[in-house]
Amino acid sequence: MTVTGDTSDGVLSEGGRGEPLVVLKDVQKHFGDLHALKDIDLTVKRGEVVVVIGPSGSGKSTLCRTINRLETIDSGLISLDGKELPQEGKTLAALRAEVGMVFQSFNLFAHKTILENVTLGPIKVRGMKKSEAEAKARELLERVGVAHQADKYPAQLSGGQQQRVAIARALAMEPKVMLFDEPTSALDPEMIKEVLDVMVDLAQQGMTMIVVTHEMGFARTAADRVVFMADGAIVEENTPEEFFTNPSSDRAKDFLGKIL
Ligand code: ADP
Ligand code: MG
Repeated sequence: MTVTGDTSDGVLSEGGRGEPLVVLKDVQKHFGDLHALKDIDLTVKRGEVVVVIGPSGSGKSTLCRTINRLETIDSGLISLDGKELPQEGKTLAALRAEVGMVFQSFNLFAHKTILENVTLGPIKVRGMKKSEAEAKARELLERVGVAHQADKYPAQLSGGQQQRVAIARALAMEPKVMLFDEPTSALDPEMIKEVLDVMVDLAQQGMTMIVVTHEMGFARTAADRVVFMADGAIVEENTPEEFFTNPSSDRAKDFLGKIL
């Protein structure tokens, strides 16, 4: 989301808005015979919110997963804040920690409390002191509106609350970029808004975000750019206004005709 000036809460703690933060160059990925990502070139700037949309099976999740190397790539390069992502090893682990991911299924640790879910990463991966991690986790839970649930277990929360905890858990690692892969598609309709509101808030505070979603309201409110994928390729990208009112490719026209 385009906001002028810096924000007070330190989301933009280093570097300036507008520099390339996530860069993919000529990325190729096959699953056997299937060419799942074709010549992907994508640059996401610091502070930018990019919404990725496209039909099922077009490669949106694979794209997200390659960005933090949950999925390897066949060729091309991916860099994060100027550093190329290696295929494996310690450097990869460190860079991966800079990418926050929120999935369709909330993926919380079922046998840990909400507070523990949020403090685990900072304590184990960042070596943060427990007291400090807890203070920070409570702050984040407050920010996503579930502070009162801190001592409960995931199953005691609604889907919308669990997804907001998942967002808080990702934020606790102070990622440089947040990836959301259809974060609201497993939610009951009445819970979608409470999750989108948290995401809009995050966007307004300057977080760099890549969001796979078909929530057009979110795209129109928060996205700087919409990237449309079909058959593993980026078919077109544009501002949300332009994309929704005047798509240029037949694939996008066809897709929008089905979902709008
Ligand atoms: P989307 O998220 O846009 O629905 P995906 O990225 O999940 O699409 O999948 C793109 C294509 O790659 C689909 O045809 C899917 O079946 C295939 N695919 C995804 N992951 C794997 C995998 N691990 N092994 C084999 N095929 C896969
Ligand atoms: Mg998907």
